[in-house]
Amino acid sequence: MVFKHKEEVFDVAISGGGIAGGTLAGLLGLQGFNVCLISAGSKPQWDPNQHHPRVNAVNHASIRIFKHIGVWEDIRNKRVNPYYQMHVWESDTRGAIEFDAKEMRVPHLGAIIESTVLTSSLFDLLARQPNVSVIEKSRLEGFLVNDVNLALHTDSGHEVRCRLLVGAEGADSISRSLSNIGKREYASGQQAIVAEVLTDNHDGHTAWQVFLPNGVAALLPLEEGKYSLVWSCDDEYYHTLMALDDTEFCETLTTSFEGRVGRITGVGKRYSFVLRQHQAESYIARRVALIGDAAHSILPLAGLGANMGLLDAASLSQVLGESRQHGRDVDSYTVLRRYERWRKGDNALVLDSMRGFQLLFGSRIQGSRVIGGAGLKLVNHLNPVKKALAGFAMGDIGDLPLICSASINADI
Ligand SMILES: Cc1cc2nc3c(=O)[nH]c(=O)nc-3n(C[C@H](O)[C@H](O)[C@H](O)COP(=O)(O)OP(=O)(O)OC[C@H]3O[C@@H](n4cnc5c(N)ncnc54)[C@H](O)[C@@H]3O)c2cc1C
Repeated sequence: MVFKHKEEVFDVAISGGGIAGGTLAGLLGLQGFNVCLISAGSKPQWDPNQHHPRVNAVNHASIRIFKHIGVWEDIRNKRVNPYYQMHVWESDTRGAIEFDAKEMRVPHLGAIIESTVLTSSLFDLLARQPNVSVIEKSRLEGFLVNDVNLALHTDSGHEVRCRLLVGAEGADSISRSLSNIGKREYASGQQAIVAEVLTDNHDGHTAWQVFLPNGVAALLPLEEGKYSLVWSCDDEYYHTLMALDDTEFCETLTTSFEGRVGRITGVGKRYSFVLRQHQAESYIARRVALIGDAAHSILPLAGLGANMGLLDAASLSQVLGESRQHGRDVDSYTVLRRYERWRKGDNALVLDSMRGFQLLFGSRIQGSRVIGGAGLKLVNHLNPVKKALAGFAMGDIGDLPLICSASINADI
């Protein structure tokens, strides 16, 4: 590993080369900061012949961020599937809400993109940026903080000095634990089954989500007849579903979606994810800031987790850039506190809303699902509320960083 800049101390070191960390490195590199990204893995590989099992529904704000750092062309040239409609319903009461891009007067509701498409494109971008150094196959192990900077050490024997450390290592962030930042963890009691499924339905641009007695199942369109399934369910039902053979699994899925997506004709390998919900008690410590899942993680039922982390990255990048323009140190408490004030409240609101959904639709309290179903029906008919909800989920409404402003083109 050869550092691309000759000075001894980086402006910012980022630990964690996932979607949030990789994007922040790109944003800061674009602004001329000297950045070091410490990545646990090597450069992510994207396979043009096979969909990666983990996909993300990426919203307008995130697309604007990718366009801003100049990585969108590359992502689009790999594999991106826009969706124009989304149907959400509750299985018992048939309460439903529908979102339609035409009705919302937007080009699309979002795009389904494999995680490896995003991260491999981000790593290619970082390799081209003259002031961003990437240390691959290396995990942050510890750091010492003093009055002027931080000294980081990794399990690969690298020593890195920086003014600011950003923890982007996901839900088990070591930067968070080494900084003694506590977190509020909410038991989800749920696991997600993720798999690619085939259907005889040829609409490749509609997303479907159904609230079931034992969880929530979503089908995200990958292309004509191919979907990515994310089935979040309680532990007991998870084991029942995993024990089914492929034919039984497809039949259960067809029935659960009430045939609305046609007949499920095939399923690929089923992957499991333990679902976590947490919020760090603080997003900052002395010379440290947290972004992405290191700061918060939510249930995948609204497909917002990665989008929230990308907003953290864009907000922090804006705060650091503006502070430098005003002659302030990037590691000063006032500067970091500005970032925390900006993002923590917004993220808490989303986390609380997702917990509300889980309580309403996942609770065994009699009547709660009826109220949930009625709520969906009501919001579906209250146009301004529905528009506001969609605008927030698409990343067009809210306290957005300048590069995510709704006036900027988010076309595919
Ligand atoms: C089933 C499922 C479906 C989802 N669907 C969606 C969706 O549709 N839309 C959406 O927006 N979100 C979705 N999410 C959430 C989304 O995947 C996460 O919010 C997002 O991946 C978090 O990105 P991150 O970069 O913060 O963390 P991560 O993706 O966890 O990346 C952290 C990186 O840091 C590395 N690391 C860990 N420890 C160290 C260390 N000590 N040193 C250096 N590196 C380290 C890890 O190896 C990893 O590469 C979903 C989540 C799940 C589980």
